[in-house]
Amino acid sequence: MDADVIVVGAGPTGLTLAHELALAGARVALLDKGPGRTGESRALNLHPRTAEMLALRGMLDGAEEQARARLETTHFAHLPVPLTLDGWDSRYPYQVAIPQAEVENVLEEHLAALGVRVQWNSEVTGIEQDEERVRVQTGGKWIEARYLAGCDGGRSFVRKHLGVEFPGLDARWFGTVSDVVLGITAEGIATTWDTKGSPRMRPDGSFANIFPIGTESDNVYRIFYSIADQVIDDQRAKVPENEVIAAIQEFYGSDTEVKEVRWASRFSDASRLAEHYRVGRAFLAGDAAHVHLPLGGQGLNTGVQDAMNLGWKLAAEIAGWAPEGLLDTYHGERHPVGAAVLTNTRAQVALGQKGIEHEALREIFTQLIKLPEANRLLGGAISGLSIRYDLGGDEPVGARLTDFALPDGRWASELFHQGHGVLLTTRTELVAEAAPWTGRVDAVEVPELPGLGAEAVLVRPDGYICWVAGTPLTEALHRWFGAART
Ligand SMILES: Cc1cc2nc3c(=O)[nH]c(=O)nc-3n(C[C@H](O)[C@H](O)[C@H](O)COP(=O)(O)OP(=O)(O)OC[C@H]3O[C@@H](n4cnc5c(N)ncnc54)[C@H](O)[C@@H]3O)c2cc1C
Repeated sequence: MDADVIVVGAGPTGLTLAHELALAGARVALLDKGPGRTGESRALNLHPRTAEMLALRGMLDGAEEQARARLETTHFAHLPVPLTLDGWDSRYPYQVAIPQAEVENVLEEHLAALGVRVQWNSEVTGIEQDEERVRVQTGGKWIEARYLAGCDGGRSFVRKHLGVEFPGLDARWFGTVSDVVLGITAEGIATTWDTKGSPRMRPDGSFANIFPIGTESDNVYRIFYSIADQVIDDQRAKVPENEVIAAIQEFYGSDTEVKEVRWASRFSDASRLAEHYRVGRAFLAGDAAHVHLPLGGQGLNTGVQDAMNLGWKLAAEIAGWAPEGLLDTYHGERHPVGAAVLTNTRAQVALGQKGIEHEALREIFTQLIKLPEANRLLGGAISGLSIRYDLGGDEPVGARLTDFALPDGRWASELFHQGHGVLLTTRTELVAEAAPWTGRVDAVEVPELPGLGAEAVLVRPDGYICWVAGTPLTEALHRWFGAART
């Protein structure tokens, strides 16, 4: 075989997945049809849960170094009351404001350190699979692997070729996004990156928002705009530069100098969710599995988290110790998360509609999110901090492990850098019980487990608690980490 896993698409999802696999020693072929990095960034943030996950692999520091700001709040449908992250215990209670291209650079560097490089100019044009292998056609040749992951974006070839249904809503609304270099800026254009920016609304429903996303010296701004009644025949057609410049000058004043239009593209409110995340030996993750309007900035974040869920499970299968059914838990756990993201973005789309009834809805929602419980609920959803999996068992099984400081000065998250499961225990004898799973699970004795009210927890490589002291540990080790070594 040419590889253990062929990952199609080197966006944030494919890079994260390839990293998880390579970390566990799997042989990965990471193919992308593009000629190389474009430097274009659609996404601009890492939500707290994604930040926590990158910290589990020691990758957050690199991203934080490139971050332009920390945004302490987020929003729901741009309502005037911000969502705070109060009540969600996280070491990173903020969004890391960082362009997608910088996140990809960080992921790619970590991947290169494991010896994996993106194979650019490698479009996948054919797929075959049987019970033992998958074969993928790229550049006129066929390559073979045990598994395939389609991380190839919203128009996924892999998804279509596998015949996976992608039900949902067609686009009814289009927006335009562009990164521009400004010269002289009109008064009223934000000079710092915050969650508000410089919004402009017109009575006919047209709107724009602009804010700086570059470094101090480069004057790069992100603009979003939508012109009421603009007809977009072909969403993929190149956006004319003069349209972007005209929009900026109409919304922000004709004296606003646009020195360069770096890139521009259309986006829409189409929302769709793949019916199956797995077909035989092939998996879907990221935008290949779910698309929606980028309200609240959740697409990249959800994709990275899909990859963190799938990566260790696929690696376990390749290493030969995956328990029966482990791979199917990927769809079982992540499909509901994708569905929930679609629900919250569709609700935000509804709140953004024109009309007296929608204004009434916005007013009611604004009142509601002043209530701490409602604010916490939506903040938890958008940030990813409220995601928990139905794994059975008592509290806190299914929840994420909240990071805490260890007596030796390290953080608990650092124990996950190898991509293993971690047993955190205040009971010495459990360390010996976990010994037959060494190499898959690292057992660490701690004086206490802050905030957990438990004597011991078993945590999966993706940071979710899968067992709490009270039932036999070995059962949980078998369930999640396979048969003991003999
Ligand atoms: C305007 C806008 C703003 C956004 N803002 C945010 C935000 O703030 N926060 C957020 O979380 N998300 C945001 N998103 C969404 C985010 O950009 C996507 O969710 C994210 O890029 C998905 O990553 P991915 O790796 O799954 O797919 P992609 O980034 O689309 O990467 C797919 C890769 O697959 C490759 N590929 C495709 N077909 C093939 C093939 N046949 N063979 C080989 N390679 C192939 C492509 O070249 C590409 O490199 C935004 C989206 C838009 C449109």
